[in-house]
Amino acid sequence: MLAPIRSETRSTCPYCGVGCGVIIGTEGARIVDVRGDPDHPANFGRLCSKGSTLHLTADIKIAAAARVHRPQLRLAKEAPREEVTWDVALNHVADRFAAVIREHGPDAVAFYISGQFLTEDYYVFNKLAKGLVGTNNIDSNSRLCMSSAVAGYKRTLGSDAPPSCYDDLDQAQCVLVTGSNMAWAHPVLFRRLEEARARKPALWLIVADPRRTETAEAADLHLPLLPGTDVALHHGLLHIALWEGWIDRPFIDAHTEGFDALREAVRDYTPARTAQITGLVVDDLVQAARWIGQSKAFLSLYCQGLNQSSSGTAKNESLINLHLALGQIGKPGAGPFSLTGQPNAMGGRETGGMANLASGHRDLANAADRADIAALWGVHDVPAQPGLTAVQLFEAVAAGKVKAVWIACTNPAQSLPDQALVHSALKGCELVVLQEAWADTATAAYADVLLPATTWGEKEGTVTNSERRISRVRAARPAHDEARDDWRIGVDFAQRLAARIRPEAVNAFRYDTAEEVWNEHRESTRGRDLDITGLSYALLDSAGPQQWPYAEGAALVPSSSGRRLYADGVFPTANGRARFAAVAFKSVADVQDARFPLSLNTGRLRDHWHGMSRTGRAAQLFGHAPEPVISLNLRDAERRGIAASDLVELSTRRGRMVLPWVADASLRSGQAFLPMHWGSEFVIGGINLLTSPACDPVSRQPELKHSALAVQRAALPWQAVFAGWFEEARAQTVRAELMGMLRGAAFASCVPFGRVRSGLVLRVANQAALTPDVLAALFDAFGLGAPEVLRYDDPVRQHARRLKVADQRLHALALTGSITGHDWLASWLKEETALAVAPLSMLRPNAKPPAGVEPAGRTICNCLGVNERMLAKAVPTCPTGKPLLAHWQETLQCGTSCGSCVPELKRMAADALSRPVVAEPAAVA
Ligand code: SF4
Repeated sequence: MLAPIRSETRSTCPYCGVGCGVIIGTEGARIVDVRGDPDHPANFGRLCSKGSTLHLTADIKIAAAARVHRPQLRLAKEAPREEVTWDVALNHVADRFAAVIREHGPDAVAFYISGQFLTEDYYVFNKLAKGLVGTNNIDSNSRLCMSSAVAGYKRTLGSDAPPSCYDDLDQAQCVLVTGSNMAWAHPVLFRRLEEARARKPALWLIVADPRRTETAEAADLHLPLLPGTDVALHHGLLHIALWEGWIDRPFIDAHTEGFDALREAVRDYTPARTAQITGLVVDDLVQAARWIGQSKAFLSLYCQGLNQSSSGTAKNESLINLHLALGQIGKPGAGPFSLTGQPNAMGGRETGGMANLASGHRDLANAADRADIAALWGVHDVPAQPGLTAVQLFEAVAAGKVKAVWIACTNPAQSLPDQALVHSALKGCELVVLQEAWADTATAAYADVLLPATTWGEKEGTVTNSERRISRVRAARPAHDEARDDWRIGVDFAQRLAARIRPEAVNAFRYDTAEEVWNEHRESTRGRDLDITGLSYALLDSAGPQQWPYAEGAALVPSSSGRRLYADGVFPTANGRARFAAVAFKSVADVQDARFPLSLNTGRLRDHWHGMSRTGRAAQLFGHAPEPVISLNLRDAERRGIAASDLVELSTRRGRMVLPWVADASLRSGQAFLPMHWGSEFVIGGINLLTSPACDPVSRQPELKHSALAVQRAALPWQAVFAGWFEEARAQTVRAELMGMLRGAAFASCVPFGRVRSGLVLRVANQAALTPDVLAALFDAFGLGAPEVLRYDDPVRQHARRLKVADQRLHALALTGSITGHDWLASWLKEETALAVAPLSMLRPNAKPPAGVEPAGRTICNCLGVNERMLAKAVPTCPTGKPLLAHWQETLQCGTSCGSCVPELKRMAADALSRPVVAEPAAVA
């Protein structure tokens, strides 16, 4: 048999807004590997732990079982969906949408799209909603991550345009990272910052973050401010700069307006008062202000900590104030630089693909701008009134005002706050259309119509990264089964809908290729601040990724060099001046009180991305954080009488859930932290049951970074653990089945493990034992129902143990009733260690781990598979005087590939002399 032909395709990583270039290796139609593109100016060949494992999530051998293969439709809510042809599905949806629009008006339908859309997808859906249907009810999950940054830029600088570029990281003298754990969330950019610091020891790094994250750990100065107090911090820093005379008066006079009002607004933010509000130390505030105010090049990098807040716009504005007052914008190494969380949040902003935006950075409220767009689209008009933003949109669905919702490429049943409302909205909605690559997301359960979409590795188009750089996305393999590109689905639907409601508009949706769509988008930017009329697919293909603006006739800029905006001090406002914003500090919306005394923060894990609909396919990516846990300050737990092995019950004003917990020294007392990724696909409830829908009044971005929280010990005496290996393609299906089976349990989590093979660990806790039927089904799912399985049962105490052993290796296990000893049994299983002991002896409830079984701990270096146990064992072998990190890298090679683990290795090396390297045991032991 001939070997499949190998080929390589240049494309872009589909995760964070760094926008790294990748080279995808395929054999036949199979994606088999991925590496960084050395010529791409965002990463110069580097990838992080997520980008470098993309092929594991795209390998159709593994992922096929979880894909949507063909359109599916159900005609009654309780009926199962059935596969139908594209024609049947799209005609049905067009009929239903047309009927709702005729009967209830265009605002009775809504579209909820995604920052993972390519620019071409965004363009088509925006035109479909605003131009054809005549509603601005189109919003994106980008509302959850960057709408405060959009509002902040527009209200101060006049346009939604990040002014800096990645080269500024090399040229800055003082960098403030605020509201961002970029060591984990934007790792390739953080690597670049680490290198710049290694070259320039006088480059000061200040990190403002309530948690002592890996990023904060690396800083020269960490400002652990209290949640939500960023505006006070920015005002306090400006107050000191004013007092010390560090402001740039000539810049303020020549290029800005509104400074007098701002000076009044910050007058009371003395160091003492600022320290009182923010919980910081006066000396640290003064030190930060000195480094910032006296720096020749001050760069700030910020993300969700500023944006996901009920005062997110003010946080952005007050930080930009600081840059304008210091004249730190438009010059090398300087500027307020918002990092985007999604691969194409920027493309969505450029196409105006949100409820309050218009194409090409136009203004919905401006009649001339709307007329421009209508003329370009060939439609009569575009509605002026802003549409429903993400949280409002699902509230309107719940209230029955929106009767048909079209969701594309996103998972609102996992990612939106106040999930109880979102689930009830989706359940009660007359028509839910979901356009998705994956069949097992939480939202898919509510879809009346499920349309198969292509995904990364199969799509053609463009994305724009945080530094305004447009890169090509290319298909490396054919579409899976009957999946269609997102823009194509939009076009196929638009033509049918137009025929029913506006026949004259059918021709407005005649595109044959993604390039044709993009060319029309390009035209929408002509004469605007983001003008890209000088670009083409051909130029992007020949010259590589390019930053906007790039107007027709502009000279080609080498793609390896970055360009920044506003070097001439002229801003895209009516008078060319930037505007100071005299904003007031407001504390968090969800008030902490005696009932809910803690502040719950959410954020990212190193190896996962968003709702894990992609990273959740690769078992290897769970080695670093093997199960959902809440992080608490140890004192807060002790005060509540919570022991290490307890589960905890978490409650907020919206919902409750149960989780294991870990003591986390990076948190101040009064604070708690949950990774944003764990949805109901992996743990009962999902973390957004707890989060708050309180929104910023301008940006309408929800305050996902803070919820008032109560924590107490969960009294759940019956517990169980199941673990086992599965055929790789089956593991994902089994996980979905198990979580479905356990919906009624007080706690259940099901998480993959394994590097070469795929396994699952299922943990359950409940007030009472599960019913015999459910237990039997769980034993069967793990292959533990067969007679040859070793078993021990204590019916009186409702304890049971099952071990499936072959060749002295453990293949599956179950402990129910009591789970004592599960950690070493799970280690035995996960590491496939051969044991020279009688397996029967392992059945005893008080069995001790035999020699050779020692928990490996977390995987720290994902690329090389280096775990905590390996690191600990290497500590005593480190020669005197040799840095431990260098010893680890030399002997274990950890941190020498993608480098995502280097910040953590540095911290562990620093800690190794003072305490053991192996972390505290898992909470439920
Ligand atoms: Fe992808 Fe990592 Fe690059 Fe972000 S930093 S684009 S996740 S490889």
